[in-house]
Amino acid sequence: MYWADELAASVEGPQVVNDSKTPSGTVHVGSLRGPVILDVITRALRDRGLPATLLYGVDDMDPMDAQALLTPDAVEREMGRPLAHVPDPAGDCHASYARHFAGVFIETFAGLGIHPDRYYWMSDIYPTGEIDPLIRTALDRAQVVRDVYRRVSKVERPEGWLPVHVVCPVCGKVGTTIATAWDGETVAFECRPDYVTWARGCGASGRIAPFGGAAKLPWNLEWAAQWSLFGVTIEPCGKDLATAGGSRDRSDALAREVFDREPPRNLAYEFLNIGGRKMSTSKGRGASAHKMAEVLSPEALRLLFLRPRPNQAIEFDPEGTDAIPRLFDELDRLAAAVAGRPYRGELPPDPERLFGYVLLPATLPAEAAAAYRPAFAHLALLAQIPGVDIAARVAEEKGAPLTIAEELTLAERLAAARAWLDAYAPESAVVRVRRDAPPPEATALGEDQRVFLGGLAIAAEKEGPHGGDAWQDLLFRVAGEAGLPAGRAFGAVYLAFLGRPNGPRAGWLLASLDREFVVGRLRAAAGWHHHVVDDVGTPDGPPASDGPPAGRQATSEEAKG
Ligand SMILES: [Zn+2]
Repeated sequence: MYWADELAASVEGPQVVNDSKTPSGTVHVGSLRGPVILDVITRALRDRGLPATLLYGVDDMDPMDAQALLTPDAVEREMGRPLAHVPDPAGDCHASYARHFAGVFIETFAGLGIHPDRYYWMSDIYPTGEIDPLIRTALDRAQVVRDVYRRVSKVERPEGWLPVHVVCPVCGKVGTTIATAWDGETVAFECRPDYVTWARGCGASGRIAPFGGAAKLPWNLEWAAQWSLFGVTIEPCGKDLATAGGSRDRSDALAREVFDREPPRNLAYEFLNIGGRKMSTSKGRGASAHKMAEVLSPEALRLLFLRPRPNQAIEFDPEGTDAIPRLFDELDRLAAAVAGRPYRGELPPDPERLFGYVLLPATLPAEAAAAYRPAFAHLALLAQIPGVDIAARVAEEKGAPLTIAEELTLAERLAAARAWLDAYAPESAVVRVRRDAPPPEATALGEDQRVFLGGLAIAAEKEGPHGGDAWQDLLFRVAGEAGLPAGRAFGAVYLAFLGRPNGPRAGWLLASLDREFVVGRLRAAAGWHHHVVDDVGTPDGPPASDGPPAGRQATSEEAKG
């Protein structure tokens, strides 16, 4: 059973699914794993007929503690203030630092088919007073809070330390204050210059009522307070928080012992490693969520997160030769399997459920599976060949006009392919096909390779292969018949068309060019035909010349003729 269906089958009654995030900077693509998992759990619950509510929160009262994105003069002023009160570093496009970074991240949700029933911002929640009763409880039970920190995480808080961070009424910082002496209405606070190393308090002190937004709960307690406030029953969390004695254990214990409530069901999920490195959400490395959403279609991005179980780490290198094209291929394979069409390669477990969860909410699986899907690698090549009417070419390959849904898929994939070529594609995927004559490097072709290319020309002319797979099959077969190792055969194709020893999948390269041109070029490079049809100008245009291309060495065959 698919993991989300397993989870849904193990609960009863209405469910509230929640996640929240501290918007401390640019959010990386790995952080989308949580929201995608949340969305799929919610869908699985609803499929089972259970009422389910999906919440997504922004912990924007957390203190600013990453100075990388601040100008030097802003560091002294802004470090330690709530993220909701720090100005937008990108100018005035958003109301605050938090709204900027959380906003850019959240904007990717809708495109991915993730539609929380409610977004909440902690900077909005505190001023309403909704959370005040929980702050009061935490202060009344301060000793229990200190005991939990000591017992669960071996963290010792000083005697008299209170579980509340006052927003300094003088300098506005929340990361620099310590509160003591709760009298049932107010706490004593001090804004200490040296309380933390990363921010400087102003030295102010006094008494204040820690309600209505004048203070916030420490993060672990705030997490547990969200569960009480919203009635959360399921909350997956990243593996880094789910370690023994870590944040989640602490918040679970605080929920039980301070707020008298059973914590939500956890589902710890692993990281997404980009190019072998663990993705960090606060460093500027790797790939941002919004950038990655440009090079992967929503379905491909969902598939990336949904094909492994949550407890499996995902290794993904967008700059790898094949990582992104393969992801699209896997999507196409799933669609073929669901539609009962033949496919190549392996399928992940539960292909039908997985395919359904990969699709955006309004899409019907049967319809999506039946749709024509041009291979990503093919589109990436077509996009680089000048003069190709790609929509017409794809319709021709389908053998029928594209439906509106197929046109949309094509547009989405083509945009992704272009963005991939711009941002991540390796040099081997970039092609410049010289159309007037074989590249000078083709003179390096061995005699065995020339024979192979000639044989390929004959077979191609006779069989008229259609599409990358058909060309790929033909390449392997003709190479086998010629007794040529596949590597040498593919190398011959690359030399003849690109003037280099490597390139994208050869079958797809040939499929992206018009067949007459391909046959002409194969013959020219093979050098065994006197009437070389080679210079075709544009891929769909007529042959412009049938003379032997200039600049090519005469071969033994021609010399003989
Ligand atoms: Zn202060």
